[in-house]
Amino acid sequence: MTTPLPPHPPAKLPRRGILAGAAAIAGISVATIAAQLGSAPAAHAVGKPSGPNAQGRPLTTPPLIIEGGTIVDPETGDAVEDGVLVLDGGRVSAAGTRDQTRKAVAAVAGRSQVLNASGRWVVPGLVDVHVHANALADARAILQGGATSVRSGSSSFYQDVALAALPEWAPGVSPRMTPAGLFISPDLGDSLLADPDLAPLATLSGGVKETSDLAYLTRVNLQHGAKVIKTRANPRAGLPGQDPRELVYNQEQLSAVVKAANGAGVLCHAYSAEGIDGAVRAGVRSIEHGVFVTESTIAEMARRGTYFTPTMDAITSMATSSDPVLAARGKEYTPILQAAVRAAKDAGVTIVAGTDSFGTDVTPIGTEARLLAEAGLTPLEALQSATVHAARLLGQDDVGRLVRGSLSDVVVVDADPLADVSALERVRVVVAQGAVIRNGL
Ligand SMILES: [Zn+2]
Repeated sequence: MTTPLPPHPPAKLPRRGILAGAAAIAGISVATIAAQLGSAPAAHAVGKPSGPNAQGRPLTTPPLIIEGGTIVDPETGDAVEDGVLVLDGGRVSAAGTRDQTRKAVAAVAGRSQVLNASGRWVVPGLVDVHVHANALADARAILQGGATSVRSGSSSFYQDVALAALPEWAPGVSPRMTPAGLFISPDLGDSLLADPDLAPLATLSGGVKETSDLAYLTRVNLQHGAKVIKTRANPRAGLPGQDPRELVYNQEQLSAVVKAANGAGVLCHAYSAEGIDGAVRAGVRSIEHGVFVTESTIAEMARRGTYFTPTMDAITSMATSSDPVLAARGKEYTPILQAAVRAAKDAGVTIVAGTDSFGTDVTPIGTEARLLAEAGLTPLEALQSATVHAARLLGQDDVGRLVRGSLSDVVVVDADPLADVSALERVRVVVAQGAVIRNGL
């Protein structure tokens, strides 16, 4: 049995507020506590630390012109040959023909870097809606693969929250990150140490399962800076000892997570028909993996606007595992998942590209787009799954296209992705937050 946790912490209450609340409950004054603690801890508890560059001087990049390539717009499928793209001040200041961009080019003349993309195709920085990044090297590997915006599928110690802060200070160090914080899962393991507010969860012998505890963990995540919440309906498929068709959390438990998320989108790892259906009806924003989704749940997803992240690469790559259980699983699941993708497409469910990359073991997001095309999406639809559709899921209308005002994230590839989307796997150039972090021209 588990004991329900106290309702604290209320959302967004600063430490001083918590201190005052605790003091009020204990019937003593804040001044008494502060005197006991001494002044140093109180000083640490408020404001930001002082130190080098504390006043804030972010690194900046010079304007960038990418000229001569064919600029592709994933929203419309239009392409401009011999196009010119001008990036200035972190945004696209112009994109189009040489004529259309003449003014913008003149405005940055003499202070811009110029890349000649003749014979290549220019697409927006790609979006991977399911990654696990826990280190700077992970962030670097994601960028090198062409994903300049990502949604975290959880990290172990809020590294994703810290990575999310980097682009504003140091362009090109991390992709733009929508952090999920800790995985809402029964067993936190060492992630229990990620925030002192998690200590009460150490009392739960059966793990995080009561709805009140699930809500508490969700609130700690949000308080720590998570912008989305990652949870699960089923065990993992990638571990031979686990059966991904067992149920971890039912609809009632997932509803508690969705409610506590308070509008932050919930992404739910789910495999079984029952698990996926419960998650969809609980109101999650997206289904991750979703192998055994049924026709009726697909209809419900279409009705609610639930997104589908099939993570094709994560499933298909199991087939080549040296573990016989995983290899059999990969072979069994792949055609089922491909059929699910086609059924979802036919029903009007929005399909988004997520690799489920973990650490530095990063699958280029172009590979996921290719696998989605192999499952039945057109090249344009596959490109959209890694650009405009994914951007919509993240709530970012300035990502996924290269039009005036778009954020300055660009990928240059060798061939036409509208003819063969596998072109996205052969990344030549990556520009992230205006910084050229890969240049094979
Ligand atoms: Zn994952």
